[in-house]
Amino acid sequence: QAFQAVQLGSLVKEALKLLKASLPSTIEMKFKIESDLAIMADPTQIHQVVMNICTNAGHAMLEKGGVMTVQLTSERMNDQELEGHPDLKPGRYLKLTVSDTGIGMSQEVKERIFEPFFTTKDKGKGTGLGLSVVHGIVKSHGGDITVYSEPNQGSAFNILFPAIDQKV
Ligand code: ADP
Ligand code: MG
Repeated sequence: QAFQAVQLGSLVKEALKLLKASLPSTIEMKFKIESDLAIMADPTQIHQVVMNICTNAGHAMLEKGGVMTVQLTSERMNDQELEGHPDLKPGRYLKLTVSDTGIGMSQEVKERIFEPFFTTKDKGKGTGLGLSVVHGIVKSHGGDITVYSEPNQGSAFNILFPAIDQKV
């Protein structure tokens, strides 16, 4: 499918509506969609990114419940702010953050999550493909993904996409 101008906020809202229906009531969802800017994207692939990341966040809280927060902001980023993202050029970005108050990850797990077939889930419960697919899609859209996590505290995934000026 071809890349087109996609308003990321509306796409995220649609995806979260679907996801919410499949989550138990012990998981609270908070949205803060604070930008109506667009990105050049394959909408089907971006939908997949949101679903994969948020499904993992849901899994991390299945046992004890918790809060999933999804935030979208727009930020002008200079070289200094893009430190750690060697492939990204200064400019305006949309930042999608998905955080959860779930089981979190050890350092060893965190280092491997983007590898294809890496999973810590029981046989039949995870393919280990979700985040490697996410990583590939984000990179092919000129973006980047980073993760923060503490065992027993939770995790936060930050995804940057280059914003475009075009209105949609
Ligand atoms: P799968 O979900 O099939 O295991 P993924 O590629 O989606 O495969 O995720 C790989 C691994 O990353 C998971 O098995 C889990 O260990 C870890 N992980 C991903 N997201 C989270 C999260 N939000 N909280 C805790 N661990 C996570
Ligand atoms: Mg997964």
